[in-house]
Amino acid sequence: MTPLPSAIEVTDLVKTYGDVEAVRGVSFTVPRGEVFGFLGPNGAGKSTTINMLCTLATPTSGTARVSGFDVVAQRDDVRRHIGLVFQDPTLDGYLTATQNLRLHAELYGIDPGVIDARMNQMLEMVDLADRRDQPVMTFSGGMRRRLEIARGLLHSPRVLFLDEPTIGLDPQTRSSIWRYIRALQEAEGTTIFMTTHYMDEAELCDRIAIMDRGEIVVLDTPEALKAAVGADRVVLGTADDDAAIATLRERFGIEASIAEGAVTFHVDAGEAFVPRLFAELNVAITSVSVSRPTLDDVFMSYTGSTIRDAETDGVGSMNRAMMRAMAGARR
Ligand code: ADP
Repeated sequence: MTPLPSAIEVTDLVKTYGDVEAVRGVSFTVPRGEVFGFLGPNGAGKSTTINMLCTLATPTSGTARVSGFDVVAQRDDVRRHIGLVFQDPTLDGYLTATQNLRLHAELYGIDPGVIDARMNQMLEMVDLADRRDQPVMTFSGGMRRRLEIARGLLHSPRVLFLDEPTIGLDPQTRSSIWRYIRALQEAEGTTIFMTTHYMDEAELCDRIAIMDRGEIVVLDTPEALKAAVGADRVVLGTADDDAAIATLRERFGIEASIAEGAVTFHVDAGEAFVPRLFAELNVAITSVSVSRPTLDDVFMSYTGSTIRDAETDGVGSMNRAMMRAMAGARR
């Protein structure tokens, strides 16, 4: 039996706009059923890459296959097998939840015999079954996003593209959206390709690619990425900081410093080191915390930009979405 094709296979993909090399030869593979996070600072080339995978932009060179189909030569096959949930709201506010879904089902040529069952299943999944016959304009932002996700899934796509699916939503709605994503992956083996500026959310992905200046700078599991960054951070409260710093240097060869009022240093396997410290440090310890490198540290080390920058980008897109929404409301 020939093995099933990967969900996404990208080889030397390039996209230039005049002099701008938006995507500069990226290659990667996403296996079926994976939740794949696509991260990077603003202008890194993420949207351009996604647009090529979704057949909304034509590659300048290189190839990409989605669900086994070539994005240029088999564009319609690709489109039939993907679902899109982008930031621009595209629901019709005057129509009910069910009417919006039915429109989409007809557009995708879903077998009329199964439409109702599939709509019910998706509305149940995103907890909107009881609002099914109400106009979307009465829905909160979180409910609309959930309905967009239900609609993106209606035609059972093999690959679902989610662009910042939880941006601007409250923590409770964000975590319920993650529950649907995981439920879906388990029930239907759907591959999820998502962008996010939330590092806690990136943490939930099976693997993450970080893109910067048109290239993929690293691709691995969140655990491996953090491990590669290295040592744990240990923060100590002590009765005598200067004496503690001197002892750390003399006995352990560790250079500690005072950061935000506490003795701070980096060491491999921090949790194993702390008990030794308690035994050998001749200064009273009043508090201790050990933290592993976070994805923030990973992001920073590969892109040179801080998460704060990335968050600012996030707010930027949200503002743009709000401006669009307001422009729509005035029309
Ligand atoms: P990201 O999604 O990571 O923020 P983009 O893919 O939107 O990045 O942009 C990558 C680069 O390509 C940027 O320099 C951007 O200005 C440029 N770019 C994107 N789309 C176009 C376009 N249609 N025409 C010209 N330049 C573009």
